[in-house]
Amino acid sequence: EVKKNGKNNWKFYSSLYDLEYMNPLLMETELYKALEQQQLLLHYQPKVNLATGEITGVEALIRWEHPVWGIIPPLDFIPLAEATGLIIPIGDWALESACRQLRKWHQQGFDTVVSVNVSMQQLHQPDLLGKIKQILKRNKLKPEYLELEITESVTADINQAISTLTALKKLGVKISIDDFGTGFSSFTYLKEFPIDTIKIDQSFLEGVPDSPKDETIIKAILSMGCNLHVNVIAEGVERKEQLIFLQKQHCNEGQGYFFSKPLPPEELEKLVPEIRQKVIEYGIDQKKEA
Ligand code: C2E
Ligand code: MG
Ligand code: MG
Ligand code: MG
Repeated sequence: EVKKNGKNNWKFYSSLYDLEYMNPLLMETELYKALEQQQLLLHYQPKVNLATGEITGVEALIRWEHPVWGIIPPLDFIPLAEATGLIIPIGDWALESACRQLRKWHQQGFDTVVSVNVSMQQLHQPDLLGKIKQILKRNKLKPEYLELEITESVTADINQAISTLTALKKLGVKISIDDFGTGFSSFTYLKEFPIDTIKIDQSFLEGVPDSPKDETIIKAILSMGCNLHVNVIAEGVERKEQLIFLQKQHCNEGQGYFFSKPLPPEELEKLVPEIRQKVIEYGIDQKKEA
């Protein structure tokens, strides 16, 4: 009897859970607590040089470990954080802890660069430059070791963002446009922001190698990046065929589950040699094919 109903019971709890989880007021209260009670954490995903297999940097991706709800992915709470202003303290926390981790890695001899996702709201803070300077100083890091990944947003006050980013760029911090090609103003951002890197949105790589359209779009972005002297990185590399396509197109960098999922820092460290081996193997495959 009990066993038979087990599944339905679970369903019942699951819908109660959904009800709580989907309630933005409750979630906002819980998100406040999350900051105070240190329920937020960062996972890290490597960016890989597609010719050498070297790790060129790591991206910090936020997770929320709720005591009852479990691990909550960013897309389930970042929009709420942006709408309520909580993105400011959350963003400060992410910058500080990513830099703290990077400092630790540098001390261990893992000489990498960290990328932190930054919402447009954060760029509207007049004191963001000062905050970042302090964070870098506290963690004894050169600005060159920090990259900010900016995602487009419709409501953006672009002028404030331009002046903040220009000042950060002058300091030496690297700037990249995230999810390039999916937003409303990709090209405006590219034109107006002092960009070092474009990240091709993963939706374009999904169609490789079956969709000639997606392949054409990726080639066009790569060629544009080359002509503008902007670095281009492909997001969402999941399969060998995608890696080979990107290598053939001379795309310098990639990121995706093929190399590694976002991982806790201790787990990522162990993967570094494995990732290099993978790229080198497929690089050789590709030469054989040609
Ligand atoms: P994003 O910055 O574009 O990050 C890439 C997302 O794609 C991540 O999802 C990553 O786990 C996922 N991903 C990586 N490789 C692959 C792959 O090969 N295949 C597929 N299907 N997915 C892949 P995640 O971690 O859930 O983050 C989602 C978004 O949340 C991020 O997109 C970013 O916009 C935002 N986000 C994450 N952390 C922060 C943060 O600290 N601050 C802000 N403002 N936004 C953040
Ligand atoms: Mg990103
Ligand atoms: Mg992205
Ligand atoms: Mg994204």
